[in-house]
Amino acid sequence: MRKIIKFGGSCISSFEDLKKVSEIINQDKDIKQLVIVVSAFSGQTDLLIKNSSDTVDLLRDFHLSYAKELGVECTNLDQTLKLIDGTKDERLSVGEKLSLEIIGNYLKKSINNLEIIDSSEFIVTDNANSIDFETSQKNTEQAIDKSKIVLTNGFLAKNKDGELSTLGRGGSDYTATFIAYALDLEKVEIYTTVDGVLTADPKKVRSAFNLPKLTYREALEICHFGSKVIFPKAIQPALEKNIPIYVKNYLKPKQIGTLISKEKAPKEFPLSGVTSIRGISLLRLEGSGLYGVAGIAKRLFEALSQKNISVIFISQASSESSICFAIPTDSNTKAKSTIDLEFRKEIDSHLINPVSIDNNLAIVAIVGENMINTPGVSGRAFQALGKNGINATAIAQGSSELNISIVVSETDENKTLNVLHDALFLSDVTTINVFQTGIGQVGKVLLEQIRENQDFFKKRDIRLNLAGIANSKKALIQPEGIDLNSWQESLNDTSDNVTNIDNFVQKIKACNLPNSIFVDCTASEIVSEKYHEILDASISIVTPNKKANSSSVEVYKNLKATAKRRSVKFFYETNVGAGLPIISTLNDLILSGDEILKVEAVLSGTLSYIFNTFDSSKKFSDVVINAKEQGYTEPDPRDDLSGTDVARKLLILAREMGHNLELDDIKVQSLVPTQLAQIDSVKEFIERLPEGDNYFEEMAN
Ligand code: ASP
Ligand code: MG
Repeated sequence: MRKIIKFGGSCISSFEDLKKVSEIINQDKDIKQLVIVVSAFSGQTDLLIKNSSDTVDLLRDFHLSYAKELGVECTNLDQTLKLIDGTKDERLSVGEKLSLEIIGNYLKKSINNLEIIDSSEFIVTDNANSIDFETSQKNTEQAIDKSKIVLTNGFLAKNKDGELSTLGRGGSDYTATFIAYALDLEKVEIYTTVDGVLTADPKKVRSAFNLPKLTYREALEICHFGSKVIFPKAIQPALEKNIPIYVKNYLKPKQIGTLISKEKAPKEFPLSGVTSIRGISLLRLEGSGLYGVAGIAKRLFEALSQKNISVIFISQASSESSICFAIPTDSNTKAKSTIDLEFRKEIDSHLINPVSIDNNLAIVAIVGENMINTPGVSGRAFQALGKNGINATAIAQGSSELNISIVVSETDENKTLNVLHDALFLSDVTTINVFQTGIGQVGKVLLEQIRENQDFFKKRDIRLNLAGIANSKKALIQPEGIDLNSWQESLNDTSDNVTNIDNFVQKIKACNLPNSIFVDCTASEIVSEKYHEILDASISIVTPNKKANSSSVEVYKNLKATAKRRSVKFFYETNVGAGLPIISTLNDLILSGDEILKVEAVLSGTLSYIFNTFDSSKKFSDVVINAKEQGYTEPDPRDDLSGTDVARKLLILAREMGHNLELDDIKVQSLVPTQLAQIDSVKEFIERLPEGDNYFEEMAN
């Protein structure tokens, strides 16, 4: 085996690390040729870029103490630190120069045929900080002795004039794959601190997972966008000579990691990753003067390129009436003035509008070779976006079908990543985010059921995440999840005491989580008045609260229409018949063409209980109080006794059957004695309930 291994800065920055590194170097038995590339020690390049007054001291201290820890010399330390006062590239080179010396001195102790060589002695760059392949290949062949184990640093090179240059942030990967190219090595191993290339940034997408295989083209797309695991330019040399790259965790060298080669991953997933960039502006050139005129795009992009503005995304409809393109926000004013100037004549004669700009956008891309010829991927993607209320401002898919790029608002970036990741990596678990208000009788039991059924959900590939809870006094929002074993303590400990429902709903909307469900376990009318706003924000609602559905027909219909328009659910099965599937059965009957002639039902568990328990041996007031204590009544027992609760249920059933009734169309006879009907508080009503005992006694006889 003839191979090159590269270690990133955070794999070589402690004595413990170097034990691992030695193991990795000695891992393969049949090594015929070995080149080792090291970058600067962790954090040193950052310090050099920042370049403050204490940079020299910080670097001296770090390297001195590290050399001491390893028991080696660093004789060139002061000499090398002088480069900090040189050109920018000279300054940036200090980290790699020092790591090469220290690691070299350390490895020399155990490897006797080690040769140490600075990569700036054989890598030559062109004007764009890319490697000049031809010259560098010749140099590399000469510089690297096949019979030795060669240690070199990455990142460093010389330009045509022989001055020190560098390959760009993270460029030591590029050095490694280039050396493999130049020497026709059989493989490249890149060691980092993660397990390989992931399907998405794990800081943004919790369910991201490690990809076993990527093609070069996929790696290029993914690494250009979010993933920092490998330097994009590093792919090209390997691709040209078809040399496999393994990205591996240095703490788990036996694991395969991610293999980047020309081989496609098994067809298991249509795509290989979801990535994003923020800080994007979208510009649009529009007007009737664009139609059928050749050369507009050429003028547009030439003008931009002359100002060195790089265009990230382009999309033009076939009507040709507008061209839209994305650029980094920091060049948006320059771009606008450049274009408005270029098209001044057309703008003056009203053929083209001045360029319009939208800021605060992100581009999210889905990438994968298996998307090619797999119908339905973009369908699935956009359906998932629609369901979650995410608006795609612009879309581009190259004919390579390797990458679909979607422009969304920056505030939707994380949500979009998660929604797409969940929708497209089918085998993955779907996270459902629950925001619950009302933690009385019903609410508490529901939370307990959710807690008890986590395994049940897991088996169905669902993760039910409690992201927020509120009662009338406190609210707690925790997008990463509230522990179901201690939600009560967490809620008590939160300092957010000013709960009003507006506030809670605003916070839920601001979280902008995918697959959100608002659960209303209150009986509150004020909460039910927020439903429209909630559904309109593409959040589903599940509730036993009857208030919304039994308010005006207009509200009832509007809620259903909004849920439909936003493709979210509005579920209220427990409005009628407690846990029994009455509403859904009714709907099924209607959907299958049945006509409902009559419904007979005992709709109040409360009243049934009260009347079954009330006999001459008991006082009516005691029976009611007892029912309330056992949780059988509405929070205000008068809702039951007055018949209002039953009326609401009947109303909802009637409406489900298609009758446009209002609450006062339902005739009920109230059981609340007249002298108790006007009392304000529930407490006072209960206290004065015995005043009605005679009335009920007479009624019973
Ligand atoms: N030390 C350089 C950097 O941090 C090169 C590299 O690590 O690949 O960008
Ligand atoms: Mg690095």
